Amino acid sequence: MSDASPGSPDSVSAPGSPDDFRSAARATADLVADYLDALPERPVWQPMDPAERAALLDAPLPTEGRPLTELLELIGTKVMPAPMGNGHPRFFGWVNSAPAPAGVLATLAAAAMNPSSAGGDHADVHLERAVVRWIAELVGFPHPPGGGILTSGTSMATILCLAAARNRAARLAGCDLREAGLAGLPPLVGYATAETHSCVRKAVELLGLGSRNLRTVATGPDGRLDLAALRTAVAEDRAAGRLPFLVVASAGTVGTGTVDPFEPIADLCAEERLWLHVDGAYGAFGALDPAIAHRYAGMARADSLALDPHKWLGVPVDCGCALVRHTEELRGTFSLVPSYLRDEAAGELGWFSEYGMEQTRPFRSLKVWATIAHRGRAGITADIARCTALARRLGELVEADPQLELLAPVETSIVAFRYRPAGADEQLVDAVNRELPTAVQLRGRAFVTGAVYQGREMLRACLLNAATTEHDLAVLLDEVRSAAAELTERRMIR
Ligand SMILES: *Cc1c(COP(=O)(O)O)cnc(C)c1O
Repeated sequence: MSDASPGSPDSVSAPGSPDDFRSAARATADLVADYLDALPERPVWQPMDPAERAALLDAPLPTEGRPLTELLELIGTKVMPAPMGNGHPRFFGWVNSAPAPAGVLATLAAAAMNPSSAGGDHADVHLERAVVRWIAELVGFPHPPGGGILTSGTSMATILCLAAARNRAARLAGCDLREAGLAGLPPLVGYATAETHSCVRKAVELLGLGSRNLRTVATGPDGRLDLAALRTAVAEDRAAGRLPFLVVASAGTVGTGTVDPFEPIADLCAEERLWLHVDGAYGAFGALDPAIAHRYAGMARADSLALDPHKWLGVPVDCGCALVRHTEELRGTFSLVPSYLRDEAAGELGWFSEYGMEQTRPFRSLKVWATIAHRGRAGITADIARCTALARRLGELVEADPQLELLAPVETSIVAFRYRPAGADEQLVDAVNRELPTAVQLRGRAFVTGAVYQGREMLRACLLNAATTEHDLAVLLDEVRSAAAELTERRMIR
């Protein structure tokens, strides 16, 4: 060091203190295991202490480094005590799962290798091809080689699938969209129900199609897409000179877990040459459960399926997946191989970066591989069947309670319900149910979120955790009743 000239690499000090990576890694394992062990005993969620929150928000940029052991201490005392709540057996909010332990471990190993899974001849790339095939096999979707890719989530998978659908429609209309853009094409029109997740509209907007060209198709009283309404809408758009190209159906809506009727929708799409995309982010893996598998009949006829291993499978965030029936539709939409990315080792399928937006890509496949390999198809099926059984049980408990009302049949593992004592004023009921999720969350014993379904404020409990018990369901309903009684009383007094 002493004879290094100023400004030379050796004159700039390497990280100072002698870290012992191995002992820090062992301590990390203990920290993580202690965290997971203690989860069920703590409040599901609590608002952060203002000082603790400010300490994170306002943390100054460190000038000097710190040893790993100190960082671990901070992670253990300042970060891990303030979780989102998912992982707790009484977390029923949104669609956020407990992490699969095998996936947690794999995350560390994947980070240690830290490849870019863009492509090439290294383990991570081949593992991704294998797990995409496994995912397709689990949900019974056809899988030509190259017919899928892992993504950050279903939002990104939806963008990929809808881009492929859009480009195919343009091609059929005699236009190379990649070269010419949308100008010169009639409006491309897509169809989805009001229960469809917002990521579909976001994708439509981002792809330049315009959200007004995403038609809202009526649903029947059961919340499922109404085929006659779809048929009429397509005919009207064709008659007006527009170009229908896409139907989005749901394999488990986010509000009620409803599965659309795929067979008749697929028939109509075949007749009309429309791309059928299925949003299976939350619910596609429900197809594994023999008790509800029949609801998914025809899902395999879709042109594309987006789904989230980071939801029902418990793969640590992030991990979504896009599956396509025709490999070339995806590759033809995204492939661009400049000279600096040529790779003779890539093989016939080329790089994953030819199938999506990401160039440098994380090693997501190891946590998927570990999660599936740890439980096996049988274990995953049992976990999913347990969740749907718990959800049906919760539905029964709701129906048996005169103060509660079930708002939709329990088709998968989401239970949509509201607090509605007999004779209560509809406006008061709506106001109370609107405030109810937060009130329950703040009590700390259960976590549930809300939504509006068919114009009514409701709660929706999503069961993804096989460690949840019937007792946990009873606690949830106790909390809902108590919080609702408080809210109602406060409104009466006001
Ligand atoms: C979560 C979810 C999405 C969005 O997926 P992300 O992984 O959050 O991007 C889309 N559709 C449904 C039904 C979902 O549950």
